Amino acid sequence: MERETYSLNINKSSESYYNDISNFTCEVLNEGAIFYKTPVEMYREYHIKSNLENIPYDKENILEFLLLGVLWKGYSSSATNIKHIRNRTLIYLHKFRRKFKNIKPLIDFFRGIMLTSYLQNSKNKELLELEPDMKNFKKLLRWLEASGEFNFEVKRLKNWFCFLSEISYEESSEIIQKAITWSAWFEDHSKKAIGKYTVNVEKYLKESYPKHYWHENVIFCGRKRVEYHLNMLGGEIMNSVYRQGFINTDDKVIVLPACMSMSYKSSCKIKKTDDGNYCSGCNPKCMVNSITQLGKENSFKVIVVPHQSSLSNSDKGTGILKENIGVVGVACVLNLISGGWMLKERNIYAQCVLLDYCGCKRHWHKEGIPTCINIEQLKKILNIKY
Ligand code: SF4
Repeated sequence: MERETYSLNINKSSESYYNDISNFTCEVLNEGAIFYKTPVEMYREYHIKSNLENIPYDKENILEFLLLGVLWKGYSSSATNIKHIRNRTLIYLHKFRRKFKNIKPLIDFFRGIMLTSYLQNSKNKELLELEPDMKNFKKLLRWLEASGEFNFEVKRLKNWFCFLSEISYEESSEIIQKAITWSAWFEDHSKKAIGKYTVNVEKYLKESYPKHYWHENVIFCGRKRVEYHLNMLGGEIMNSVYRQGFINTDDKVIVLPACMSMSYKSSCKIKKTDDGNYCSGCNPKCMVNSITQLGKENSFKVIVVPHQSSLSNSDKGTGILKENIGVVGVACVLNLISGGWMLKERNIYAQCVLLDYCGCKRHWHKEGIPTCINIEQLKKILNIKY
């Protein structure tokens, strides 16, 4: 069956994906270490001198630098005509939708209209990518913040903005330009290395995506192919840098998305509790059930969440997100970077396993199709040897 955007199962198994992404990540990190060492090291020195909390690992800094270039190329034309009042309104609406769940549909209705008109505006005027300078960096950050889709990415980029504000105008512009140049290299090379897993994204953007116009998910569903590749890289980098922290935790929890259930919202007998939703095992063919059984045999909890935002909305230190637990987050590719950084901000060391394809009704599929993961990859992450 043809998948909407990405699929790791090109040879009926996602085995080869995990080899390919591992090799490609080495290639990107080598390229970064050779050609982009100076800005990343300058940034790290600034970070250490300024006593900023939670100094990221150097591989994460490389990812952040690349992220700056990718988002600049992808969104700076939308940020060109950003208006202060519309921008603030979008930010407040995003905050309110998380706080006032009972009026969320109404808020989403307005957000959908505002976000789409921004996108349409930039398309109609054929606005060009912004010049790489600090004034435009600020505009880009404001646009990303207003979109509500890049909360944790924006936090990282704001630290880069502070660092670049401390150096000369020429130097900062040169560093931003380097990030943009590197993102062009990344776009090209990622297509060759892992593009076979995302061949449908461009077709999807052309044919199916327009139906998301005027909806709240217009930005999320319209993410470019290069962002899929960047998230794949991000997931691999985070699995490597948070690995030891994850291993050192006593308690481990697997967080599964509801779209993996065989019959979510119809006959699924999930048990809802304040600590999360637990599978009751009603369907022997359901993958959530199999993973829950694996959890029982190997002493880890398995919970099901409707969406990643259900995790980020829960208060720090309460519910399922207690500090110092190890989390294996199962997510679709576009949530990998934000999900990993959201958990890290809560002192939770996460490992991720990608859904082999996406299929939830809310974003990707008319009826919704049950999604799945590579169980061998999950076992590898949990050190289960059978
Ligand atoms: S086995 Fe679990 S997740 Fe699957 S349908 Fe039943 S209760 Fe829902």
